[in-house]
Amino acid sequence: MAVLLAHEAEKGTAAMSDPVEKAQIIKLAEGLYVRQAVDNMGWIDMGEYAIVVDALEQVSLEGEVLDSIELTLGDKPVRYVINTHTHYDHVALNEAFQRKFSSEIINARTCSLPQDGREFTGNRKVRVFPSPGCHTNEDYCIWCCDDGVLFVGDIFGWGLIPLTRALNDKSAELLIATYERLAELDADTVVPGHGTICGTAELVRWVKYFRWLLKEVALHSQGKSGPVRPEKIALPEDMIGWWRFEQWKHADSVRRVIAAVEKGRLTI
Ligand SMILES: [Zn+2]
Repeated sequence: MAVLLAHEAEKGTAAMSDPVEKAQIIKLAEGLYVRQAVDNMGWIDMGEYAIVVDALEQVSLEGEVLDSIELTLGDKPVRYVINTHTHYDHVALNEAFQRKFSSEIINARTCSLPQDGREFTGNRKVRVFPSPGCHTNEDYCIWCCDDGVLFVGDIFGWGLIPLTRALNDKSAELLIATYERLAELDADTVVPGHGTICGTAELVRWVKYFRWLLKEVALHSQGKSGPVRPEKIALPEDMIGWWRFEQWKHADSVRRVIAAVEKGRLTI
């Protein structure tokens, strides 16, 4: 059960404002914290040392982040910094951790992992494993099995199709297969790279949404000579509260599927 430590959204305005406008330190388990904001990061107490997951976009956050880690975990050395991938908004503080703790940086560029990943042990187990292809070819996930917490980086984007490469039959199948495999872990908490934290139910819901979207677009394009109009495909009501989904992510996903179908890349 997540415990909010700071900056709880003000009641009454919560529906209007962006829930991650202010960074919040959230305790997911004893010694396991997430700094939830537009860019997320986590830190994990392993007993003798700590692991950090992702390292934000702004180097100016160094002082604030180091203070938060010390406040919550004490002065344990951050022995490892794991990046879910190497986009600029996940690695900015790598250098700060290296400077302060001589941390080992673990990502697909510094450390190529076997398929079953690498396990870190201490007072809990943490496994980092490659899960490439959904967002980048470098995607790593971090599974804290004792706590039921899964860090997925930008594989889950609150309704966004996470691919940075083309959407086609092959990449669509890979997305669905990866989500289904991640859902099998049955994590209580899923930490995406950006925005509010969620759970396995959201991974499952997105697969259902994605399959529905593929079918809807196919249906609307049947027997039509002109292009499918994106506004014909309304967002599902139960997903209206998803982070930034109604604002732009649904429209973006619809446009992407329509483009892929019209170019003949997506036939499923
Ligand atoms: Zn990214």
